[in-house]
Amino acid sequence: MGIEDASMRNGRALSDQWADSVVVRPRTTEQHITVNKRLVLGFAISILTLIIVTAIAITLSVSFERCAAESSGALAANGSSNSKWKQSRDANISHRDSEDGQQPWRHLRLPATLRPRHYDLRLSVSMENFTFSGEVHIEFECVQSTKLIVLHTDRLEVDKVLVYSDSKKAGAMRIQRRFHYQPKQVFVIALHREMKPLRTYKINITFHAHIEHELLGFFRSSYVLNGERRFLAVTQFSPTHARKAFPCFDEPIYKATFRVSLKHESSYQSLSNMPVEASTSDEDGWVTNHFSRTPRMSTYYLAWAVCNFTYREAVTDSGVVIRLYARPDAIQSGSGDYALHITKRVFTFIAFKLNYILPNLLAVPKHPYAAMENWGLSVFVEQKILLDPDVSSFSYQMELTMVVVHEICHQWFGDLVTPVWWEDVWLKEGFAHYFEYIGADFLFPKWNMEKQRFLTDVLHEVMLLDGLASSHPISQEVFEATDIDRVFDWIAYKKGAALIRMLANVMGQPLFQRGLNDYLMTHMYGNAARDDLWNKFSEAMQREGKDINITQVMDRWTLQMGYPVVTISKNDSLDNSVTISQEHFVYDTDAKIQNPELFNKSFQWQIPLTLAVGNSSHISTETIIWVSNKTETHRVGHMGSETWLLGNINQTGYFRVNYDLHNWRLLIQQLMTNPTIISVGNRAGLIDDVFNLARAGYLPQNVPLQMISYLSQETEFLPWHAASRALYQLDKLLDRTEDHSLFSDYVLRQVEPKYHKLGWPATSPEGSFMQAAYQTEELQREVMMLACSFGNKHCHRQAVSLISDWISSNKNRIPPNVRDIVYCTGVSLMDEDVWEFIWMKFHSSTAISEKKVLLEALTCSDNIFLLNRSGVTEFLNTEAELNELKEFILTSGGESAPAFARAVEIVQANVKWHVLFQQQFYRWLRKAPDG
Ligand SMILES: [Zn+2]
Repeated sequence: MGIEDASMRNGRALSDQWADSVVVRPRTTEQHITVNKRLVLGFAISILTLIIVTAIAITLSVSFERCAAESSGALAANGSSNSKWKQSRDANISHRDSEDGQQPWRHLRLPATLRPRHYDLRLSVSMENFTFSGEVHIEFECVQSTKLIVLHTDRLEVDKVLVYSDSKKAGAMRIQRRFHYQPKQVFVIALHREMKPLRTYKINITFHAHIEHELLGFFRSSYVLNGERRFLAVTQFSPTHARKAFPCFDEPIYKATFRVSLKHESSYQSLSNMPVEASTSDEDGWVTNHFSRTPRMSTYYLAWAVCNFTYREAVTDSGVVIRLYARPDAIQSGSGDYALHITKRVFTFIAFKLNYILPNLLAVPKHPYAAMENWGLSVFVEQKILLDPDVSSFSYQMELTMVVVHEICHQWFGDLVTPVWWEDVWLKEGFAHYFEYIGADFLFPKWNMEKQRFLTDVLHEVMLLDGLASSHPISQEVFEATDIDRVFDWIAYKKGAALIRMLANVMGQPLFQRGLNDYLMTHMYGNAARDDLWNKFSEAMQREGKDINITQVMDRWTLQMGYPVVTISKNDSLDNSVTISQEHFVYDTDAKIQNPELFNKSFQWQIPLTLAVGNSSHISTETIIWVSNKTETHRVGHMGSETWLLGNINQTGYFRVNYDLHNWRLLIQQLMTNPTIISVGNRAGLIDDVFNLARAGYLPQNVPLQMISYLSQETEFLPWHAASRALYQLDKLLDRTEDHSLFSDYVLRQVEPKYHKLGWPATSPEGSFMQAAYQTEELQREVMMLACSFGNKHCHRQAVSLISDWISSNKNRIPPNVRDIVYCTGVSLMDEDVWEFIWMKFHSSTAISEKKVLLEALTCSDNIFLLNRSGVTEFLNTEAELNELKEFILTSGGESAPAFARAVEIVQANVKWHVLFQQQFYRWLRKAPDG
């Protein structure tokens, strides 16, 4: 699935208190909001966030031409998933050996005594009064003798229950009692007689329920077409909401086949995972669509929709038809064409040697997540799939591309091979997120996503979060049902992707690909755990004579939280040796000491450190050193006094690198004189590392400031992007300090030469943005945003005049790529009328992408929404505020929530930074050279 709201792309998630605000927020001296208000609002928002970030999602569809693959796949799946399922069952049984073993409905997991094979589900849907009634027949196998049938239901009214034994077709088995146990959302049926292993049984349940407003289970939403409100109803089952639509064994391990039929008024159409096999009409004007049987899959990938949409279609090279369904006006205007086009192209690219395709996409006006990869019917919220080329910015296009590719990748990682249990949700989300970048590089090689954008948007982003003592391992234990939503967080997505990328680079692409293919072929139509993946990778390596135990290496990275900082220092001896040490990187070591779980814990990793040596004109090829001890000594070839060392080449590793001060000086010198000796990725990496190391006290505060003085020489987007992220972060930390202008003036001095050189984009954009030179436009945009944010007067005047022109002429001549900067600057600096104007435009605009930018601009004024976007804790940095925050959390009863723990730790780290380093920071700035 894709987490909603760009959060996965640019660090805009509400969940992330560290995340920098992408909003241009021109600096004003007034503080319109009191800290108190910020606290309260901020935390209200944090709570909301916890709910929202429950994410899930992605793409799928169906293949018909692959009967052969399916039948052989089913065989393989049965083999592998049998054992998987037994493991899962054993795990379940072992932790329920206690006194309430007789009451399996009290457990988080289903008892594993029964195993569903097939569901026949018939639903009758009334869009008139938003209700549905249904009947489900489940065919299941008994694995272990039991009198109990425990399956999931939630919010369903169960009417009738019948149970049959396969040997006794005629009569039903006698039911002793049946009841719903709400705490675990299960329905329990106790039989008089035991069911026996290896025998199959059938259960038939009739039920009814409401089509809810809430965007979970089977829910409704609406849109306006030609002035008339239209309704639709659609499903979102991941992770645990299928049970809100029909009684089922609602855990990923219980894969089965499904046959769905939907009855509804004939004025509506219906869609589901599979194509319609037969359709029957009733005299009363209702129709019933009978959909074909699905392949073996998890309940959370089942989906259906009842709507009045239209579609466009595209045909892949292998002849598979892909359809995109959306509101009729969106289809007519061609807003879906871009997504359809890239879907078709990317399918042919990421095929994993499996002739398998799940073809339909559905755009809905409201959805809890960016998208969801249901089998054969991926559902997207409109802003993540509809695009109007005339008004969409480059960043909108990129975001949309990534979401679409993400969902397509889930077809293999998620739909076909499903994690055994939610603790390893990163197995599907990490892969989908990583392959977004690979897939986007295939579509648009010039974007350089995997080598460049991945660093700032994934690696740097998640290292901020994972550098907190309140972080958690990527494989998270799930103790309660509520934990299931929690596991869909940035650690799962971004750290997952970063670890996969590190491993792919260590193994090399050919072996990595081979291991992945083996993994998918072995586990298709079944479930897999992380060890299954590691084993396939180890085997692939061994076949090439490389004896690395991938499980051993990767367990350190997945079962321990956080990541290391590797420190490399040149030894004084003449033997060209360096000392390399590792330690757990945390922003605030006190937070680690205060955390009972971490106190005294000494984390160690097996680190694939790549290393190169360089001088003013040359850099060596990299060598790899496996660092597994706390401290090691290595020889690294000849080094003169002017030779520098560079670690983590192209930032493929998930760790930070620190050096002795002399080496930092040489690296900065290199950047000033000839930055291109060092790769673009490493330039961005050095910037991110240097700011974060200083923030955590590993380095003097002047080192990052000195480093960015090379930026006027920097012609690439990525290092600028890394720098601006770090500077916005620092800006928030320094907010309200007396000498703030020293800092903003210093930043402007670094930015202005480039700003004046690049200027603004032409006001009448020529040609489509899709042909635009990505690097140049993105760089121009980044520099403009920095200039406007840190108070460059020219930038402000320019934005104001563009807005004024728009208001007076009622013609929007602002280039789409910088509209967000202009709108936001206008709203912040100009009077209320501008806000009203943007508000009016928001209502009258029909293009989804423009609507999104307008809405974001409305939040740029100093009001609650600003907090919403930027994360309040960033601004809190005094002892008094920290106490206030703790008090607030205590009185609101939220001490145990991870978001609160994170918030306290961040503010604590902020306070500590001010105590220890603020003086040092400004002392250097006071003496800093001009220009
Ligand atoms: Zn996903």
